[in-house]
Amino acid sequence: MKLDDSIKQIKGIGEKREKELNGLDIYSVEDLLYYFPRKYENRQLFPSFSSLKEGEKGALALKILGIIPSRGKGAWQRVSFEAEDSRGLRGQITFFNQNYLKNRLKSGNTYIFYGALTYYGRLRTFTNPEIIWKKHEKNKIKALYSQKKGFSSEVMTRLIGNIPLDSMEIQDNLPLVLRENYGLMDRKSALMTIHHPQSMDVLENAKKRFIFEEFFYQQLGIFYLHSLDQNKTSPLRFYKKDEILNFFKDLPYSLTTGQELVWSEIENDLISGNVMNRLVQGDVGSGKTIIAIAALYFTVLNNYQGALMAPTEILARQHYESFQELLGNLPVTIALLTGSVKEKEKESILQRVSNGDIDILIGTHALIEDSVMFKNLGLTITDEQHRFGVRQRERLREKGKDIHTLVMTATPIPRTLALTYYGDLDVSIIDTLPPGRQKVETIPIGEGQLPQAFEFIRSQLRAGRQGYFVCPLIEDNETMDLDAVLDIYHELKEKHLQDFTLGLLHGKMKNDEKDHVMDLFYSNKIQALVSTTVIEVGVNVPNANFIFVYNAERFGLAQLHQLRGRVGRGKHKSTCILYNTGVSEISRARLSILQKSQDGFYIAEKDLELRGAGDFFGTRQHGFMELKIGDPIIHREIFHLAQKEARRFHRRFPWKDLGENPLKQKLVKMFASRKG
Ligand code: ADP
Ligand code: MG
Repeated sequence: MKLDDSIKQIKGIGEKREKELNGLDIYSVEDLLYYFPRKYENRQLFPSFSSLKEGEKGALALKILGIIPSRGKGAWQRVSFEAEDSRGLRGQITFFNQNYLKNRLKSGNTYIFYGALTYYGRLRTFTNPEIIWKKHEKNKIKALYSQKKGFSSEVMTRLIGNIPLDSMEIQDNLPLVLRENYGLMDRKSALMTIHHPQSMDVLENAKKRFIFEEFFYQQLGIFYLHSLDQNKTSPLRFYKKDEILNFFKDLPYSLTTGQELVWSEIENDLISGNVMNRLVQGDVGSGKTIIAIAALYFTVLNNYQGALMAPTEILARQHYESFQELLGNLPVTIALLTGSVKEKEKESILQRVSNGDIDILIGTHALIEDSVMFKNLGLTITDEQHRFGVRQRERLREKGKDIHTLVMTATPIPRTLALTYYGDLDVSIIDTLPPGRQKVETIPIGEGQLPQAFEFIRSQLRAGRQGYFVCPLIEDNETMDLDAVLDIYHELKEKHLQDFTLGLLHGKMKNDEKDHVMDLFYSNKIQALVSTTVIEVGVNVPNANFIFVYNAERFGLAQLHQLRGRVGRGKHKSTCILYNTGVSEISRARLSILQKSQDGFYIAEKDLELRGAGDFFGTRQHGFMELKIGDPIIHREIFHLAQKEARRFHRRFPWKDLGENPLKQKLVKMFASRKG
């Protein structure tokens, strides 16, 4: 078997399985081998109780000495055994609700138990350990694969186990010098080890090799891409336009210095004759929308069409309204395209986009559907880029040929990582906030302070202000999510905020229902909005001056900062109340970072340090290339080495000189998937 064979060659994979695996982006034997375990359980035997630390999980062979009669009858049926390890140390094994074990575990016999050791006083205890009955599972490190699309860890183990790795010839895809210099394991051994580890130490080495490999290729890909994209001449002709000055003059405010600088960078790019690929980073509320409007207006003045994509329907609509407000009196035709636009209207919009009647198209993911075709697209903008995958951004770009691209984000990242996540982009930063912005007072509270908090909120509502209640997303469980929001909504309505009008907003609602609720909120007919994080990005209601976040400890700091950015947008003093039900020191320390700082860059950096890049960006944001095993923050040392080596390699072998270098194949594949 060869690495690039189809997975169909593997025993146990028929047509149906093949399709399902394709759904996980697994096509070749290589793809399947690069489906790495999510974690491991070390079931290799420890010699004795004394070799396990308290709380640590491990496997022990224990001889049953006898049953300990249980005292009293609780709601839980309990059965306990006295047991002895190979050194004669004694301890207790306790099972709940597994009464049948009374007869199954025989005194005098030895069994293998896998669990965590706890001490009650001096008494060593294993509570509800797993009993390892199967011979082939004994004394092993068990690899666990993440459960996806109906593939259990067991099935993955079996399928991967069916690949005859032992007898395969596997060429290494890292240059020998690198492997030697950094003591990296060879590819074949590393593949065998990562799926079937023999010891934890060797496993660490295998992981290190793949982490290095992953970073190396990612960085290399970025360097090549950058060199290919750089100074690419644009077929589009853009010229300076005086109308844009009038547009700025007619605004009810003047641009901040940060906005002016970024605008001049964008304008220069557009008239430079080269293709623009630019990222605009600017803290929440720094005024990115006006930059987007100006750039698209400038595009229209140059007789091209433009598109703006936003991650939520609410935001897309809000943008549409801002555009209408500021460009409405000018000869510019703007349309909104989202999932909730009716079929007939949609057809008409598509028609008018393709014949050039519509100048600016604003929308959600609906924009990247194949049916959307432009006559002469000049610029695409992706707002809140961190909410999209890179591929979506790319698909928008492919609506035209060598067109200009602008992406905007309020989630800033350190420079070293900017390259990783926004590989081929030049970076602009809006480093100022519009004048008169007030600090949002941030108050973490516990249960004890709830009555005061509600009293405060009622006083704000009585004074005519509005606000948000945010409930956390419960991971992977939309139903529970919904329950939580509904519970909170009813509790507020019936208990704390009886005299006020409340609105409810969550992801399960139909789009026009959401629109309706948002309309009522914009027009102050709803005073407080109970919502999931759907309001996180972009929502702009200046009269709202408080936000109350439930279970604040469950959010990332950057996300809380975004949420907090929903208030402090008008002239009213604003407050962000973080209701913290976590009691840990860490969760308190995290929230206090937020309390002290309003600086999105600083907060994002702290958040990254605390969580690692993977969690920070979330699973949807993969950067230029999906990272499976490496995390540039957690593994920053390996990251920097790999980056250095990739840079060196790229200098030594420019693309045209790569020839038949085996690396080229992998890179070509990467570029191909970038277009996917
Ligand atoms: P974000 O960068 O978070 O997308 P927005 O573009 O939504 O921020 O701007 C937030 C608010 O600030 C809007 O109400 C906008 O009208 C206002 N704003 C933008 N630029 C300025 C400015 N230079 N002076 C005063 N207000 C501004
Ligand atoms: Mg915005």
